[in-house]
Amino acid sequence: MSKLVERAEQVFRRCGMRLTSQRLTILEVLDESEAHLDAEAVHHQAKERDPNISLATVYRTLAVLREIGLVQQRHLTSDDQRGYYELGDQQHYHFTCLRCGRVIEFYSPHVTQIQQELSQEMGVQVLQARLYLDGYCPDCIDQE
Ligand SMILES: [Zn+2]
Ligand SMILES: [Zn+2]
Repeated sequence: MSKLVERAEQVFRRCGMRLTSQRLTILEVLDESEAHLDAEAVHHQAKERDPNISLATVYRTLAVLREIGLVQQRHLTSDDQRGYYELGDQQHYHFTCLRCGRVIEFYSPHVTQIQQELSQEMGVQVLQARLYLDGYCPDCIDQE
């Protein structure tokens, strides 16, 4: 059994839910993809493994996977409605190139610092920080 399946089964069991084959298919699509996929792209790839998967199932499943923490939803464009999905809970942020669409992931200790300062100075509890930057990647700057 792969690591992904093992972990997913654990999480599902803890939440009192079943890891159905369609849920597993969607997890595998995200696991094998290097990119950040939106729901349509997940659906497109999931259909190749299971022709019976509908877009509605993909949306429902992504919502479940998010809820139990297996999948993160990111915003990578200025379109707030459009979510992109990726596995894992690794804290990181995204830069999106407006010309070629390349997404660069980065980590910044400054964000963690802001969260700590806020907690200390204002007594709040920060659960999540979302940071999305856009502009031009090194390859695209010259074309400006
Ligand atoms: Zn670019
Ligand atoms: Zn990412």
